[in-house]
Amino acid sequence: MTAKPASLRNLALAIDVGGTNIKGGIITRGGDLVTHAYAATLSRAAPETVVLQLLGLVQELCEQSGLRPEQLDGIGVSMAAFVTADGVITATAHLSRAWLGYNLKTRLAADLCLESYFSLDTPAPTLGEYYYGAGQGIDDLAYVTVSTGVGAGIIAQGKYFTGGLGWAGGVGHIIIDENSPIVCEGCHNHGCLETFAAKQGILAATRELANLHPESRIWMLADGDLAAVTPQMVSQAAQAGDPAAQEVFRRAGHALGLGLVSLADIVAPSRIVVGGGIARAGELLLGPARRVVQERAFPPRIRQVEIVQAALGDLSGIFGAAAMVFYDLRINSPIE
Ligand SMILES: [Zn+2]
Repeated sequence: MTAKPASLRNLALAIDVGGTNIKGGIITRGGDLVTHAYAATLSRAAPETVVLQLLGLVQELCEQSGLRPEQLDGIGVSMAAFVTADGVITATAHLSRAWLGYNLKTRLAADLCLESYFSLDTPAPTLGEYYYGAGQGIDDLAYVTVSTGVGAGIIAQGKYFTGGLGWAGGVGHIIIDENSPIVCEGCHNHGCLETFAAKQGILAATRELANLHPESRIWMLADGDLAAVTPQMVSQAAQAGDPAAQEVFRRAGHALGLGLVSLADIVAPSRIVVGGGIARAGELLLGPARRVVQERAFPPRIRQVEIVQAALGDLSGIFGAAAMVFYDLRINSPIE
């Protein structure tokens, strides 16, 4: 296979393999989404099952767009797993353990004659927002995702920054309050950022505040069962003006702001883009976070860092996967 030089590539096949679904798209170099599609996946399914779904999705994308695979200039894959730039899966918390050691590059090459690129699902959305979203033109950028956990991808001087050990960007485990009774489900320390600002923190604050406010809309949305509450329900209640739900996001946003102070003080990005499911609450979360950074980052010049919402929603991963194809980006996941 002779791949086109990266500078001449114009059409990328982009895939995002997550724990619950696979997203796929065909994307132009200019950032047009020609077509996209989803397939549900069983998170613990065997690799070959997931690969067959992936290939089915590729076929669907080609049929929808009227393009043949050989008209595409490469495939980029974002994975919910650590994966080497050569496509070997080395660790995963969200997919079957049967993936460990699996060579996805070799497997895809058996069916698709395309140059292939791979990355963990933190670099991919970061690259998506940098090349096509809310971080365009910002060569010193941090992308922070707030969902089940909190993580960050860093672009330094126009390049994705992994750090020597490969783990740069682990902002979710910045310790906000070491005296907190809450133990982090990830690192088992007390009081990490993500115990306050991500799903775990949102749900804990919701339980506390809903019990103090029996009139809260949260009760109605959860059918009277707080165990059934999701961050989306709290967001919905907050958007509708429910004070208890708004207080949940104010607290989460404040904690996020404390984490962003550390990130901004250390990395000094010009802009921080915040994405992930919980960040869809927008200003309910970002407003309090921005206020903390404007008051506390140091030196004061750093307080001017822009904090904005991600632009690509849950498609940031496939846009990043496409960027790897267009800009020949090979990013190794951390070594455990
Ligand atoms: Zn932690």
